[in-house]
Amino acid sequence: MDKGFSSDCVDLGEACKVLAKNHSVVTFLKKEVGDKDFPQALEMMKSGKLDGDLGASVHDFFLDSINNEAVPIWSGFIFQDNDRWSIRVNEYHGIFWVWALESESVGYFLDANRAISFARSNWENVYEDGEDPEEDAEIRCPFCDTTDNCDHLLLLVDETFRQAEGGVLYEAFNAKWAKIVTEADDPDFDEREPFDELLDEVDSLADSQLTASPDSVPGMSSNYSYFYCSSNAKTMAALKKFAAE
Ligand SMILES: [Zn+2]
Repeated sequence: MDKGFSSDCVDLGEACKVLAKNHSVVTFLKKEVGDKDFPQALEMMKSGKLDGDLGASVHDFFLDSINNEAVPIWSGFIFQDNDRWSIRVNEYHGIFWVWALESESVGYFLDANRAISFARSNWENVYEDGEDPEEDAEIRCPFCDTTDNCDHLLLLVDETFRQAEGGVLYEAFNAKWAKIVTEADDPDFDEREPFDELLDEVDSLADSQLTASPDSVPGMSSNYSYFYCSSNAKTMAALKKFAAE
């Protein structure tokens, strides 16, 4: 679902403060408002306060320019029911914004990476152009053969970033891991060993385990493990046991 909000965003006034430092943009502004109004218009941009008629003109000018003259720096798609809906991150002289079909713009980003990470996380099933959702979906539940979440999925865990991403144990696992990390009062704390121990604990409750890695799935950046139980009753029992320990 479209969350449609990002705390990294700024409004057009804040974006103008950045644009005011750009030589090309300042030249466009001068051409747009004329020599007489230019100094005042530039001051407004620097302060981020676009007041009065002149401010309104400056506002509309940049609203249009950012919309029409931005160039894509990242493009991808939302994969839904076998359709691909384009998403793009556009740049206009250091200002970034995310374009997606049928979505209102959330505002402007001052950093390309933040704009891209918003584009990648604001919707489900977002892929960069070139990534293949078909290949990505190849992990199937060994008990019901679905590629979707099912009642058999005990835990889906990103082993590279050491966090659970799905499954019945998702919350309990992340809570347990957070506690281990928080309580480790050692500057040389090596996360690998306790994390592997925690995964062993999950493994002992599971009936089957599958893994996916960047080697098997192009475009993936982490190693994932999928733990399954053979029935819903067993997943529930495993959750109870895991949470109690
Ligand atoms: Zn299943």
